[in-house]
Amino acid sequence: MMEQVKILIDLQEIMSKVRALQEEKRKVPLEVADLKALFEEREAKFLTAQQEFEQLKKDRREKEREIEEERDKVERAKAKLMSIKTNKEYYAMLKEIEQTKRTNTQREDELLAILARYEETEKREAEFHAEVDEVEGRYRERMVDIEARMGSFDKDIAVLDEKKAEVAKRLEKGLARRFEMIFDRRDGVAVVPARNQSCTGCHMHVSPQLFNLLQREDRIYACPNCNRILYYEAPVEEATGK
Ligand SMILES: [Zn+2]
Repeated sequence: MMEQVKILIDLQEIMSKVRALQEEKRKVPLEVADLKALFEEREAKFLTAQQEFEQLKKDRREKEREIEEERDKVERAKAKLMSIKTNKEYYAMLKEIEQTKRTNTQREDELLAILARYEETEKREAEFHAEVDEVEGRYRERMVDIEARMGSFDKDIAVLDEKKAEVAKRLEKGLARRFEMIFDRRDGVAVVPARNQSCTGCHMHVSPQLFNLLQREDRIYACPNCNRILYYEAPVEEATGK
């Protein structure tokens, strides 16, 4: 293989690494945003559940207090019955007691309805709380990784860039620049082998003349279709195994 092609292949490998690092670095803020959105979604769910449970607790306390108060009222009214002088007053008081008891039965039903939702709401709040904690833990853990990674991206890229400059120095003038242009335009693949009389970059057929020229390995040739730099790759002898 031509020395210049070997250098191009080395260069392509280094540049691909840089490209991969840059791509990874570009994705980091997106990942952080996704994690943050997930956390906020879970947090909102939890806060709603928490609010619901707090309201239920308040309703329960209120209802229990009302029932207690009304029971006291009944007890006081019953005690008062003893001291009542006239029948009319007596029956009026009895009626009031009955009325209070009836309202309280209604309150007790309401309390039961609250209690029926209580456990489930409490459980949901705890569940959502655990989910928020889980996402938050994951978020924090990932952020530690990400921050460490972000710190090393630029350093790693700088090291590779230095290596790239070193390798590129060994190329003929103009070829390095041309190579970089192809690399950018052809999605990070600028030098490819011609195999089975085809360009392995664009899979177009290579003319027999060009294929012959490639086999001479005396100068740089490009694919007429995709402009990638082509080199001849001798067919690997098939192992029949028989
Ligand atoms: Zn091609």
